Amino acid sequence: MQDLLNEIADAMAAETERGKVADYIPELAHVDPQQFAISLATVKGERYSAGCASTPFSIQSISKVFTLTIALGKMGDALWSNVGREPSGDPFNSIVQLEHESGKPRNPFINAGAIAVVDAIMMGHEPKETLAELLSFVRYIADDESICFDHVVAASEMAHRDRNASLAHFMKAFGRLRHDVDKILGTYFHQCAIAMSCDQLAHAGLFLASDGVNQPSNIRVVSPQRARRINSLMMMCGHYDASGEFAFRVGLPGKSGVGGGILAIAPGQGSIAVWSPGLDDYGNSLLGTKALEMFVQRTGWSVFGH
Ligand code: GLU
Repeated sequence: MQDLLNEIADAMAAETERGKVADYIPELAHVDPQQFAISLATVKGERYSAGCASTPFSIQSISKVFTLTIALGKMGDALWSNVGREPSGDPFNSIVQLEHESGKPRNPFINAGAIAVVDAIMMGHEPKETLAELLSFVRYIADDESICFDHVVAASEMAHRDRNASLAHFMKAFGRLRHDVDKILGTYFHQCAIAMSCDQLAHAGLFLASDGVNQPSNIRVVSPQRARRINSLMMMCGHYDASGEFAFRVGLPGKSGVGGGILAIAPGQGSIAVWSPGLDDYGNSLLGTKALEMFVQRTGWSVFGH
């Protein structure tokens, strides 16, 4: 497995087309597009990585998997009265569908859906309390107390919040949000600004690969049914309007972020994190997707078989 990851990292280093680093969040535009990392944490407890796998990066929308897990833990299926479970077929920050469905976002992984999930987990608390809860959950599943928010990235998003603010105000106008919009957004932007390395991220995703049980502590995080459902949402909605393309090429539940990371889950096998900051036209990591495609071709770990 280590040889395979080295081979993938070498192949990605040789690529000349690396995509475009997100610049609508100005702070992300400074990231060096040449970086690449891949980490694998297996359900048997093995760890492999190649490239700059201990370099923290902005996990951005990958954090939506963690807030969804917390929201389901707090309110169970009641969450679905305010957030749908269907792929959107629209870009990550689209507003159009909200108008047709009374302000109910299509799924928890588009921005509107993630904002509704944050509102759900706040439950009357201040942003800092919700963020403390989120951070301790992420540190717990990654078994790493050093994980932090990147406050500079969060401030950069807050300063350029117009698009996400319009989604939130639109949902609020339909009575879908209970908290103050700026408080929800401040919480959402800090959530997206969690900085993690591929090694930490692969570890954090492991409970989804092992029927909801965190490894190696062997403590249950979610039920097997909930792990299966979160994986299915990642498969159907984790790459926005390119989720079909990701399923076609990789065939694993996956969640991307505009920081260039992707968390992919191979149920029963392991959790794989990749990072390359350059994005494709849909806002998903160009080389990250390519690396995962190479990984499943060689391991046969796609949920659809070889
Ligand atoms: N924080 C980003 C935004 O709201 C998340 C988008 C993403 O990672 O896809 O625009």
